[in-house]
Amino acid sequence: MSVFSDFNFKGVKALVRVDFNVPLNEQFEVTDDNRMTAALPTIKKILADGGSVILMSHLGRPKDGPVNKYSLKHLVPHLSKLLGGNTPVLFADDCIGEQATLTAGMLRSGEVLLLENLRFYKEEEKGDKAFAEKLSKLGDVYVNDAFGTAHRAHASTAVIAEFFPKGKKMFGLLMEGEVASAEKVLHKFEKPFVAIIGGAKVSDKILIIENLLERATDIIIGGGMAYTFCKAEGGKIGSSLCEDDRLETALEILKKAEEKGVIIHLPSDSVIADKFDANANTSTAPSAAIPDGWMGLDIGVNACEQFANVIKRSKTILWNGPMGVFEMAKFQHGTKCIAQSIAEATKNGAFSLIGGGDSVAAINQFGFHDQVSYVSTGGGALLEVFEGKELPGIAAIKNG
Ligand code: AMP
Repeated sequence: MSVFSDFNFKGVKALVRVDFNVPLNEQFEVTDDNRMTAALPTIKKILADGGSVILMSHLGRPKDGPVNKYSLKHLVPHLSKLLGGNTPVLFADDCIGEQATLTAGMLRSGEVLLLENLRFYKEEEKGDKAFAEKLSKLGDVYVNDAFGTAHRAHASTAVIAEFFPKGKKMFGLLMEGEVASAEKVLHKFEKPFVAIIGGAKVSDKILIIENLLERATDIIIGGGMAYTFCKAEGGKIGSSLCEDDRLETALEILKKAEEKGVIIHLPSDSVIADKFDANANTSTAPSAAIPDGWMGLDIGVNACEQFANVIKRSKTILWNGPMGVFEMAKFQHGTKCIAQSIAEATKNGAFSLIGGGDSVAAINQFGFHDQVSYVSTGGGALLEVFEGKELPGIAAIKNG
């Protein structure tokens, strides 16, 4: 494996797997370009060295071959704008085949070529070797900068690496940053280490909690999933979100935590509502004594203080999942409070990693994204890293 920053791309055609799976509006304009801007440092470094860039990505989930809705051609104007307007951005309306091969072959230093959606071929998601080999012929070196899809063993994210020798495959800058920050939290953490886990379902987060029990000092559990724990402990949770088939699991997690000396913090109180609605009537109650007909939709003020104290004394912080229904103004206080506490702890020297779609959306919405150590671009990929799995996209380069 080569180190991207040390590699000189002069005269080199770099085949770069990016995650340009961005949302488009009805006019096919990009409405959130975070994933595109995240890949810019990698693209710019290759161009600055005097190389050329061949970008490959998927967009959406096309089922049966090419459809206009999922064409990457819609991204060309926005990509040109992000690159400053002077970089030629070419487009090949197929990711393999004659046109892609010819355009890639004629690509000059300083130019960018965007290939059509990889998922227009079923072979991409199947991890088809012959398809991966065809893609590999387009570039001299392979750069993987798509952390968001690193948990998939697809042709362009993992299998393709086989067709490049050791010195000609590497992570891009985004991927390097993601891997380094995840490693810092998983393996090089400083204690106290708090993991803040929220969101809707316990079932989605069991593996991550179990893996964190081996590492963390404290685990804060908030969001809808907290009520399954409260009920398991004998609390009354009204009509709050609850997975009755996970009550045993919750008890097992609490027991394991006790054995390992990990403190699990559940919200002492909740903001409750009489219906799941932005205009619901609200009140507060202990999280283990929610009246019938009411549901907990956010952590309460005491829980905010309780959690803030834990966060502020920690040296390593991992946050995945909101503390409440932060999409509705009445239930966003808890999530905002956590974001603010993480920012304060970071200012005082803690390392903080935020990951998973909703916590990233929340930290952006509340304006704390530049006051934490690292905001991951990976949702599912980051969860799998913290579940202790080796991601195919990372392994293909590290071990290949
Ligand atoms: P997840 O994708 O599992 O991280 O869950 C995120 C979703 O959980 C967000 O859309 C939140 O609105 C939702 N959520 C958080 N807290 C609650 C709660 N107390 N009751 C219902 N939904 C919640």
